[in-house]
Amino acid sequence: MLNKKINNATLWDKIRKLRELIKSEIEFKERICWNCGKGLNIYDFMSDNVYYSPEYILRLWQASVLQFHCCDCFKNLKIDELKNIEQELGKRCCLFCNKSMDIYQFSKINSDLKIYELKILWLDRNYELFCDNLCKRKYYKKYYDFLNKIKNKK
Ligand SMILES: [Zn+2]
Ligand SMILES: [Zn+2]
Repeated sequence: MLNKKINNATLWDKIRKLRELIKSEIEFKERICWNCGKGLNIYDFMSDNVYYSPEYILRLWQASVLQFHCCDCFKNLKIDELKNIEQELGKRCCLFCNKSMDIYQFSKINSDLKIYELKILWLDRNYELFCDNLCKRKYYKKYYDFLNKIKNKK
């Protein structure tokens, strides 16, 4: 899984750089959400994509073929896509405690995954799914205890 943390100093550096690039851009674009028309901010856009360079952020922002959406519309889009996944497979159970879970809970636990990654894991019946890390740890502990017991008997 990707570690999405980036330190603040690096982010500030990028913001400063971006501000300078914008100043020298002749026709800096005003962007609105293609869905609801709300005005967008390039700095928000950058903090959502911290691994891109300021140059690349500005290039994307200025690209006329691209459309952007605001956070709210993005969230709604995600909910729509989750609904589609739910139609394919509504519930799964934790491998350890057997508690049932829906795709919305699963996406909350794995908020760093992209929607297609969530879908692949959710629909893969061999994927070992747990409520949380505690259940996962307990499951493997039980599993290894079991293996050890067998080993000791021999
Ligand atoms: Zn919007
Ligand atoms: Zn569980």
